[in-house]
Amino acid sequence: MTTVFTHAVVPLMLGAAMGRRRISSRLRVAGAVAAMLPDADVLAFHLHIPYADAFGHRGATHSLAFAAMLGLLAAWAYRWLDSTPRRAGWFVGLATLSHPLLDACTDGGLGVALWWPFSDARWFAPFHPIAVSPIGARFFSERGAQVIASELCWVWLPVGVLAVCILLARRASKRA
Ligand SMILES: [Zn+2]
Repeated sequence: MTTVFTHAVVPLMLGAAMGRRRISSRLRVAGAVAAMLPDADVLAFHLHIPYADAFGHRGATHSLAFAAMLGLLAAWAYRWLDSTPRRAGWFVGLATLSHPLLDACTDGGLGVALWWPFSDARWFAPFHPIAVSPIGARFFSERGAQVIASELCWVWLPVGVLAVCILLARRASKRA
């Protein structure tokens, strides 16, 4: 996994850059929760479900189908999220999908079951520069520092740059 707060930062930063009129505070928080939710599957270890099982860690909750399901749920709850069905669905669906895509870019563990339930095969991105965060990592250890440095470089920095680009594009379109 990538550390849980790094997953949350993707929808939080991008949602903030898009502005409160487009992405309400509630929708942004829902996106952050959705981006962290797939790792609730670490419970599988306590239930003695093997890592490689479809319901093991990085299994079903790390699939496109799971992201689509949360997106549909958000579209249904659009009023509560102060949004429109389409916007709530896309934002929460993509926030959820960012989780397995980031995990697939880590350098350890098993890949993600992106195509579940059609295939249980675990998938890794062709490029995986992010240092994997060990489950139950101690962030104040040397390994914890390596993981955080790697996530700052490969996740926070590019997402931050993207957020600034969105902000600049918004300013430019306001002026036009
Ligand atoms: Zn994960």
